[in-house]
Amino acid sequence: MLATRKEIIAKINDLPVDYANHVYIGKGGTATVKSFSGPGTHTVRIERWETDDQLKVDCTCRATRLCRHVAAFYAVAKEITPNTLIEEVKMPTEQMSLDL
Ligand SMILES: [Zn+2]
Repeated sequence: MLATRKEIIAKINDLPVDYANHVYIGKGGTATVKSFSGPGTHTVRIERWETDDQLKVDCTCRATRLCRHVAAFYAVAKEITPNTLIEEVKMPTEQMSLDL
């Protein structure tokens, strides 16, 4: 399915705190993500990283919508956390004061 960066980031806020421990990044835009709710793992694939709004994502879980496995992989690969998202919002004012 196709997903936008925005959609994936919105999902990052839904991840459990230890999500990073569930992600094992593989080769060629793939990762193995341990299930958050039980035993088992899912294979996640993300293509077209370079575009923000037409990422091609796939997961072997049965979700028909964007799932948390994709969000977890994206978050780990791009080093985005709910905290970073808050920092990103704060950044402009902090940078302005540094320029003075
Ligand atoms: Zn999934």
